[in-house]
Amino acid sequence: MDNIIILIVGIISILLIYFALNINIKRIKQVKENERIKKFVDKFPEDEEICKSILQILKNEKVKIEINQNNKDCVYIAISDKIILGNIKDVYTRIQTIAHECIHSVQDRKLLLFNFFYTNIYNFYFIISVILTIFGIFKNTTLQIVILLFLGIIFYVVRSYLETDAMIRAEYLAEEYMIKYIEENKICTNDEVQQISNEYENINKIGIPTYNLLLVLKTSLRVVLYTFLVIVLGFII
Ligand SMILES: [Zn+2]
Repeated sequence: MDNIIILIVGIISILLIYFALNINIKRIKQVKENERIKKFVDKFPEDEEICKSILQILKNEKVKIEINQNNKDCVYIAISDKIILGNIKDVYTRIQTIAHECIHSVQDRKLLLFNFFYTNIYNFYFIISVILTIFGIFKNTTLQIVILLFLGIIFYVVRSYLETDAMIRAEYLAEEYMIKYIEENKICTNDEVQQISNEYENINKIGIPTYNLLLVLKTSLRVVLYTFLVIVLGFII
């Protein structure tokens, strides 16, 4: 009975989160295309050059930069201290995205490494607990639900802190880079840079809560799936 109550509470929470998320996704689609802003952003240099200039502003010149034309993902790999830039030359958010990855490269290294190892442990523990429960080795399933819940909370707090910090600071760092660049190269007016910055601010207003909601969804989904498994096994055995 306890597990059924946990499952119902979990499903209601996920539905509420999904409802909120759905609204945000609709709003993201609305701001995704902006040809006017894209024309201003296109005047700025290639992604790698932007990345190097932003890293100079951050006084971090030891991080490696790698270009990957095969997909659009940009990522900072803490363990090898490397920024991988995907093919984002046609995306008008590219300056903010590059700034975001550069900020990751100057965040607290211990926390970045903790996040990397902890995420792997968290994923591994979930798989192991599912397997050992199916084979009847984990008998105290309520304890496992509580453990998964706490592991999920730690995962959420660390990841949310790192990403929210990078998203907030990227907006201002991108603006700082653009202002600096147009002082030396008159490719845009101050007003045009302001328009890009306002657009980046709008994206953050939707992007930050959406990202956090997705993280909550990801962690609660595991608890719900595990509880569902326990209930199903209870019927079978
Ligand atoms: Zn990030």
